[in-house]
Amino acid sequence: MRKKGLQAAGHTDYVTQIIMVDTDVTRFEIQNQIDTLPQKDVEGQIKEICTDIETRRKNIPCISVSDKIMDWLYHAVGATYIANDTDKSFIVNEACIKCGICAKICPADNIKVTNHVEYLHHCEGCLGCLHGCPENAIHLKNEQSEVRYRNAGVSLKELIDANN
Ligand code: SF4
Ligand code: SF4
Repeated sequence: MRKKGLQAAGHTDYVTQIIMVDTDVTRFEIQNQIDTLPQKDVEGQIKEICTDIETRRKNIPCISVSDKIMDWLYHAVGATYIANDTDKSFIVNEACIKCGICAKICPADNIKVTNHVEYLHHCEGCLGCLHGCPENAIHLKNEQSEVRYRNAGVSLKELIDANN
């Protein structure tokens, strides 16, 4: 459904990317990612994009065949099967205080907090719960890092409000 919606939107003049902290704890040591933030100059990247938009610059990057294949694989296999199963790898440890924040910030309404934290197996794999837990109680079996990262410019309340 979402794909059809995007196709219906039709014309695109400008596509770009912002290099940020990669929060995939299964692939990256998050502290290393955080340490590279000054070089990444995210604010500078955003300013450049704002200038591009103000000056109505057109930019359509050339997408390589391998990128197209990766994109297809992600949507055909990853998003449908792997992400749904991601929550089977979550471990909520004894640091959990049952505050319910993970449930409120989950964009997929995939978490129920009662006397324990329950994942409902329609996870989108965003890792928002893992990085947003104030007690660092959520872990992945195969994580490379215990460090967590959340953009200091976006509060938990803003995430919760956005979900609502
Ligand atoms: S956000 Fe963390 S501490 Fe709060 S209920 Fe979820 S896992 Fe437990
Ligand atoms: S916050 Fe993201 S990773 Fe966590 S359960 Fe919800 S969809 Fe899955």
